[in-house]
Amino acid sequence: MMDSLSGSLKDALKKLAGKAVVDRAAVDELVKNLQRALLSADVNVKLVMDLSKAIRTRSLDEELPKNTNVREHVLRIVYQELVRLVYASADLKLEPQVILMAGLQGSGKTTTTAKIARYFQKKGMKVGVICADTFRPGAYDQLSTLCAKINVPCFGNPKVTDARQIVREGLVAVKDQEVIIVDTQGRHALEPDLIQEIIDLNALTKASHRWLVIDAALGQQASEQAKRFHEAIGIDGVIITKMDGTAKGGGALSAVAETKSGIVFIGAGETIEDLERFDANGFISRLLG
Ligand code: GDP
Repeated sequence: MMDSLSGSLKDALKKLAGKAVVDRAAVDELVKNLQRALLSADVNVKLVMDLSKAIRTRSLDEELPKNTNVREHVLRIVYQELVRLVYASADLKLEPQVILMAGLQGSGKTTTTAKIARYFQKKGMKVGVICADTFRPGAYDQLSTLCAKINVPCFGNPKVTDARQIVREGLVAVKDQEVIIVDTQGRHALEPDLIQEIIDLNALTKASHRWLVIDAALGQQASEQAKRFHEAIGIDGVIITKMDGTAKGGGALSAVAETKSGIVFIGAGETIEDLERFDANGFISRLLG
């Protein structure tokens, strides 16, 4: 648990060591350090304030458990509240399923679609992909090239402009696969017809999962995007991409809070292998580091 905390937080925690009761000033200092770290990682102010309040209240009000010292007690609360902030990892089962990918253009949706195909393939499952991105020229070429590298069938037709038609045909074409991943179109902004299309695709595919792809560098817009997609189709997992860059992904936590769904995967590079299952400890460390 301690490993997750940065230097200044550890120093603040040390001030609690050896105390018989929780010291308000020491907790305030700890919370202030935590706030600084989270805000500089782009975590939304309201989320930071909620977390601060919970830590303060719980540290001062909760009874010190038996055989626990003050420092351990506060540290446990800090850790629990940070885990609550990032949510537990989203559910992922190795069973037949349809996954609908949502997200704006440039978020890394197409790359991530291929990465997820690879993930399930490595777990021994038969995977098929449908390219329903009829908006971005080259989307089908990009996805089919990535899929060809790993021998995963990819259905699409760059000449057809109706994503619903592609998906209808695609579901037939890849019906023998166990996991079917549907890449949808993304734009620079959430336009009403884009939302209507994804609602229709969700209904057509009877998707088991609807995952939202968010760029780690996305700041406060993450919340609005997540809200719109969530209202439309009910997002049940978030994927944060480009975590190999300098951004710590704190902005994406707004999407997690908005959809009340956990993070499924972290994208950390441009190759098809650069996908990791979300790990709360690792994410928290990076957020605070
Ligand atoms: P889409 O418009 O959402 O489908 O986005 P793309 O999948 O085409 O990705 C946009 C750009 O981001 C491409 O240059 C990708 O190589 C890059 N990209 C996607 N995921 C990652 C990642 O995890 N790390 C890095 N460094 N680049 C990524």
